[in-house]
Amino acid sequence: MLAHSYDFHTHSTASDGTLAPSVLIEKACEAGVKLMALTDHDSMSGYKALVASGYSSDIELISGVELTCKLEKQVVHVVGLNLDAAHERLNVHLLNLDQLRMDRAKAIALRLQKAGLPDLLDAAINCSNGGQIGRPHFAQALLNLGLVTDQQQAFKKYLGAGKKGDVKVEWPSLATVIDIIREAAGLSVLAHPTKYNLTLNKVRYLVAQYSELGGDALEVGYPAVTVDHQRSLSALVEKHQLMASGGSDFHNPEYHWTGLGCFPGVPNSLPHVLDAIC
Ligand code: AMP
Ligand code: MN
Ligand code: MN
Ligand code: MN
Repeated sequence: MLAHSYDFHTHSTASDGTLAPSVLIEKACEAGVKLMALTDHDSMSGYKALVASGYSSDIELISGVELTCKLEKQVVHVVGLNLDAAHERLNVHLLNLDQLRMDRAKAIALRLQKAGLPDLLDAAINCSNGGQIGRPHFAQALLNLGLVTDQQQAFKKYLGAGKKGDVKVEWPSLATVIDIIREAAGLSVLAHPTKYNLTLNKVRYLVAQYSELGGDALEVGYPAVTVDHQRSLSALVEKHQLMASGGSDFHNPEYHWTGLGCFPGVPNSLPHVLDAIC
């Protein structure tokens, strides 16, 4: 896995990452990253806190967010890069997502309780530490109580697709998030297209819809993407005249499979979001 001087997909304690934004940027700097986006799930509070703190670093930080949305029944993630963090519609959207995620957390706790587990709501909220709450905080709460051996097992037994804690909610539509990112003068990147458990034909359909709706780029460089996947994604970038992006999707220094700035590179032949941002 190559180390890069940019990383356009990272998470902090403002969502389900384990490093505070100020620590994350320090670690990224140590890893040789020069240009980074903090792309927390459905939150820009980490980015805003960093900027407000007047942090100093050799890294150039650009604004970012990873927005959860839905195309038909499929939940997908769209990374927004270099957006106007003060944009009103974007901020209303983020506030709505705070509410949606808290309502979902309550529903997850209820469902798991009905399945015989203790009420995990307060424990999960504690684990989220004031950041955007998500399923990984329930996984951590289960782990803290010794009810699972690791987070993976928590997803496998309780939180993953089709399990009791996988509560369906009305995420905003793909069209809406693409529109908001565009209005906020950002670039949209369809995150990790091969990680939704879709067949290649369905990935092609997703990308076609995404492009039709005005999406800008596909993530082509990310952990666990295979050479075959990259070949298919590169063809889709070219077919739909999109750009390509890359990032580590870093969450936790204990996850040995991700490191800041470390991810399979984006093929040189593709137009890169780096060139649109610099
Ligand atoms: P949420 O956005 O609350 O639905 O949570 C999704 C997050 O859970 C992802 O961004 C990953 O960080 C994490 N996640 C998803 N699936 C797994 C899994 N099988 N094992 C561990 N973490 C997972
Ligand atoms: Mn995550
Ligand atoms: Mn994601
Ligand atoms: Mn992510």
